[in-house]
Amino acid sequence: MDNWITKQAQLAPQKIAVTDGHQSLTFATLAQRLTQVAGQLAAVGALTQPRVAMLTDNSLAGYQVALALLGTGHTIVWLNKRLPTTELRRQLQDSTVATCLVADDLWREGLGVNAVRFGTLLTTAATPRPLVATFDVHQVASIMYTSGTTGQPKGVLQTFENHYTSAIASALNLGVMPDDEWLCTVPIFHISGFSIMMRGLIYGMTVRLVPQFDAPAIAHILRTEPVTLISVVPFMLKKLLDQQTPTATPYCALRGMLLGGGPIDQATLRRCQQQGVPVVQSYGMTETASQVVALNFADAPSHVGSSGKPLFTTQLQLAPQTHEILLKTPALAAGYLGQPEKFAAKLTADGWYHTGDVGHLDEAGFLYVDGRLDDMIISGGENIFPDAIEAAYQSAPGVRDIAVVGRPDAEWGMVPVAFVVSNHHLDVAALVAFGRQHLAHYQVPRAFIPVAEIPHNGNGKVQRAKLRARLSVAHSD
Ligand code: ATP
Ligand code: MG
Repeated sequence: MDNWITKQAQLAPQKIAVTDGHQSLTFATLAQRLTQVAGQLAAVGALTQPRVAMLTDNSLAGYQVALALLGTGHTIVWLNKRLPTTELRRQLQDSTVATCLVADDLWREGLGVNAVRFGTLLTTAATPRPLVATFDVHQVASIMYTSGTTGQPKGVLQTFENHYTSAIASALNLGVMPDDEWLCTVPIFHISGFSIMMRGLIYGMTVRLVPQFDAPAIAHILRTEPVTLISVVPFMLKKLLDQQTPTATPYCALRGMLLGGGPIDQATLRRCQQQGVPVVQSYGMTETASQVVALNFADAPSHVGSSGKPLFTTQLQLAPQTHEILLKTPALAAGYLGQPEKFAAKLTADGWYHTGDVGHLDEAGFLYVDGRLDDMIISGGENIFPDAIEAAYQSAPGVRDIAVVGRPDAEWGMVPVAFVVSNHHLDVAALVAFGRQHLAHYQVPRAFIPVAEIPHNGNGKVQRAKLRARLSVAHSD
């Protein structure tokens, strides 16, 4: 395929490619700027290896550096700024990069590679360097580490084809309008954000970058700027809903709020309906270059709680016994970096990918994601998912945070137990009574263990394996 950047500079030269609210770049200007950045990358010695790492926020500088790497035929290794330096160093070694490009305000010592600040890079004198003419669809465009919810993060090899088919599938579902502007507050080092960058190039669409998630600031943008689409993860959605009072100005141009990345409770989805927020739920993972299942605008209001139907390019089935979600899609990554056997173990001989997630389908084919297979608690023959219990307890009085795991039990095999962060002394009797009112009896946790905090990974997901480990330590005491 033609290089997506130079292609859009031809197709839509005057269209705004990206804006941070202060500065906007058209596709023509962007393509021209990137030749400058490409020259600077070469001048600081960053282009000697096929892969280059990046540690950045959603800034215009980061956007340009990333696209200059892609535009010169290099693979971006995305680093998550929330991870400790020891884990970043491990990822840098794992991906065998020689250079890491670092945003000035994220600078840190000890990365163990040639680290170059954006400030240095973008002020280096250099002759411009042309971008490559074509993108090889089978080449790995990006290496992105999974969230590390279930164990050590795995480096996912995402090809241009993966990003392309993902963007097309989303377009076929949500449509592409001439005045679309997609707000990107989810990090570009995560697939939720990078997929917005890719859609921007493939659709010739404007991307509105926001460096940090700050709910009042995002709400203000949605009320005053022509943003038509935004991607959010569950915690962002809840914070945004808190901003919308009955007297607040409505979002002026928003036509869709794409929600993904983790489970969401029904109460929050109902609040979206009441407030007229056009939320569209989706399901996907780093390994599938973002959403592969999503609702559409017509079905979203009547299928609250569903993640939707498999998108046009994705086939889905449930494994017969376990109900594990199996996928076949051209958006499926080429593998895990350095661990081909780990990826191969998730693939059946005829190409179905085992997601590790469990779900069910209604008669019309709408998917409901129940939770992760590893987290499932089989208690007296009933399958229990922590997500459902945690979601119910969101509205329990005094519960600030809660996470549920299974504990071995002589009578039932396993029983659910809850770790609770509370504002005051835990009233266990009240929590049991609340559970009896809102859950099936076998779902009510057998124990409520007070804790100061619940372990979350860099993307805000509960690390249940750590809690299970705590239980087994307590058991062996
Ligand atoms: P790791 O693979 O390192 O353990 P992770 O699976 O959390 O981490 P991601 O690729 O960021 O890493 O997240 C994808 C996972 O998020 C899915 O496999 C699924 O478990 C969960 N998820 C995504 N969308 C939804 C959804 N709509 N409902 C419930 N869970 C979801
Ligand atoms: Mg995963």
